[in-house]
Amino acid sequence: LSWLSRQAPTLSQRLLDYRAGVPLNPLDSSTLLLDLAPQLERYIAELFGIAAELAATRAAALSHDPVLRFKETVVLKQARRYRKPITARFTELDAWLSTQIGATEDRELAVANYALRLFEGAAQPEIDDLDTKRERLLQWAALALTDSTGQTAVRGWSSFTLPQRIDHANLVPLTQADNERLAPLQSDPADLRRRDGFALTDTRATAREVQSEVAYCKYCHDHEGDFCSIGFPEKKGKPELGLKHDPLNNILTGCPLEEKISEMHLLKKDGHTIAALAMAMVDNPMLPATGHRICNDCMKGCIYQKQDPVNIPQVETRVLMDALELPWGVEIYDLLTRWNPLRREQYLLQPYNGRKVLIAGLGPAGFTMAHHLTMEGCSVVGIDGLKIEPLPQTLLEQPIRDWSSLKEPLDERILYGFGGVAEYGITVRWDKNFLKLIYLSLARRQCFQVYGGVRLGGTITLEDAWALGFDHVCIATGAGYPRVIHIGNSLARGMRQANDFLMALQLTGAGKASSLANLQVRLPAVVIGGGLTGVDTATEVQAYYIKQVEKILLRCETLGIDTVRARLGPED
Ligand code: SF4
Repeated sequence: LSWLSRQAPTLSQRLLDYRAGVPLNPLDSSTLLLDLAPQLERYIAELFGIAAELAATRAAALSHDPVLRFKETVVLKQARRYRKPITARFTELDAWLSTQIGATEDRELAVANYALRLFEGAAQPEIDDLDTKRERLLQWAALALTDSTGQTAVRGWSSFTLPQRIDHANLVPLTQADNERLAPLQSDPADLRRRDGFALTDTRATAREVQSEVAYCKYCHDHEGDFCSIGFPEKKGKPELGLKHDPLNNILTGCPLEEKISEMHLLKKDGHTIAALAMAMVDNPMLPATGHRICNDCMKGCIYQKQDPVNIPQVETRVLMDALELPWGVEIYDLLTRWNPLRREQYLLQPYNGRKVLIAGLGPAGFTMAHHLTMEGCSVVGIDGLKIEPLPQTLLEQPIRDWSSLKEPLDERILYGFGGVAEYGITVRWDKNFLKLIYLSLARRQCFQVYGGVRLGGTITLEDAWALGFDHVCIATGAGYPRVIHIGNSLARGMRQANDFLMALQLTGAGKASSLANLQVRLPAVVIGGGLTGVDTATEVQAYYIKQVEKILLRCETLGIDTVRARLGPED
C-alpha cells in the first residue's frame, strides 16, 4: 500500500475504499482492477528483480500484433470479400510474394509486415507499383482462403484461421470411410495426432494463436455483456427469466467462478503477463487446475453463439504458463494465491483462528476448500483414500527459480496421488505438473497437513474426527464414489470397468518403463460407452498395449525368454 500510495496516490485511495466496501458497480469495479493490475505487476517485478525479463515477455507477446492487424484489416476486411476474377495461380503469386519478403524464419510475420507496409503507414508513397502489389497480395490472400494449394500453404497460420459456424449436431466432424455402413467413423486424417507412450500429448496453443484468440474477444465487461463470466441470459436486463440453453440443452452458465475473463483478455492483449494472471486469480486462485483440457463453460457462454467462441481455456492456461516461465514464476503464482490485492476479500492469508477442519478427499473440491479455509486462518487436515506421496523437502523450504526444475515429464513423473480425479482420471492430454504446483502451494502453508491412505468411514470415522478435536468435517469425495455396473459378469476376467482401468493405469504408473505394475491387457479391446471415460480408455488402452509389449520384450532380452516363460501361469 505504501508503495502504491507513492506511485499513484489516488489509486491507492480507491483501493482502500474498495476494501472498505464502498459500493461499486461492475464496470467501476473492473475499471479499478484494470488500473491496479499493471501496478501490481510492476511491484511484483521489482520485488523479484525481473523487470527486464518481464519486459521481454511483454515484447514477445506484442510481437504478434502485426499478424493480428493483418488478419483484421487485410484478410477479414478485404481478401475474404475479394470478388474480382483471379487469373494467376496461387503458386505464381506465392513465388512473387517470396521475392518481396525475402528469406525468413517466420513467413507469416514477414507477410503480415509486408502487407501492412502496403496498406498502412507512411512508407506507402515510396513503394513502386503500389496498386499492383496491393492487388497481387489481395489475390494471394484470397486464394490462401479458398484454393486448396493456398490453404495448405497457410495451414496453422493464425491470420488465416477464421471462426467457423458451429454445427451442434456435428461438433466433431466425422466421416465414414467409403460411406460403408459398418465402417468406423473417423475424423479428418490431417487432424490426427500421433501418440506413443505417456508423455504430454497436447502442447497447447502457441503464443500467437493465443494472442489471436485474445484479439477476437470483444471485451464485453464494459457493457456487462461478458456472458462468458456471468452467464448468457435469456434476455439481457431480465434476470428473472434465467439463463439461456444451447441447442444441446446445456445451460449457458458461463464460468462457475465468474472469473474476470474479459479483463484478463484485455491485460493479456497488452502483454501484461503477471497482471493478467492476478486478474484471473481474483476469482480462480486454483487456476492451474482449470483452463485448457479441464473446463469450457466459459466458452459455451461466450457471445459468439453461432460461430466458434473465443478459446478462453487456451488463453487462461497460456497466461499461467507465461507467468510460470518467468524467473521465480512458481513463487509469483504461490504468492498470488496467498496475497492478491485485486481481491476485495481474502486478499491476504489470515493468521490461525483456532478452527480445525478435516477435509476428506483431495480432488479439485477438496484442495480448493483447503485453499479457502487456510486463507481464512483455519487449520486444515486433508485426507484421501489413495496414497499421497510427500513433496521433496527442498521444494517446500527453498524458493524455486525455474518452473522447469519443478516440472517432470509425464511419462516419468512420480505419481503424487494429490488431486483425486485430476490425478488418476485425466490422461496425458493435460499437464499434471499443474497439480504439483497446487500441492506445493498448499503444502507450504503452516496450517495445512495432508495424509494419504486414510478413508473417511474406514480408517477414520466422523466420531473419530470430533474426538480428535476437529470443529468441522468437509466431505469432498464425490467423484471417487465407487460404482459397480449391474451387467452380468461385468467383473469377469477380460472385463474391466473403464474408470477402474484408468485408475489402475494412472495410479500404478504401469505405463512407465520402470514400473513393475501388473496390469495386463490384450487387443482388440471393445469399449462400451462414448463418454469422456470411454474415449480416454480407448486411447489409453492402445498406448498402454504398446508399452506392455515393449516392457515384456525388454524383460525377455534381459532375463532370457525361458526365464520369463517359466514364470507365466496357464492364463498368461
Ligand atoms: S470471451 Fe466472449 S463473452 Fe467473454 S468477453 Fe470475450 S467475446 Fe465477450
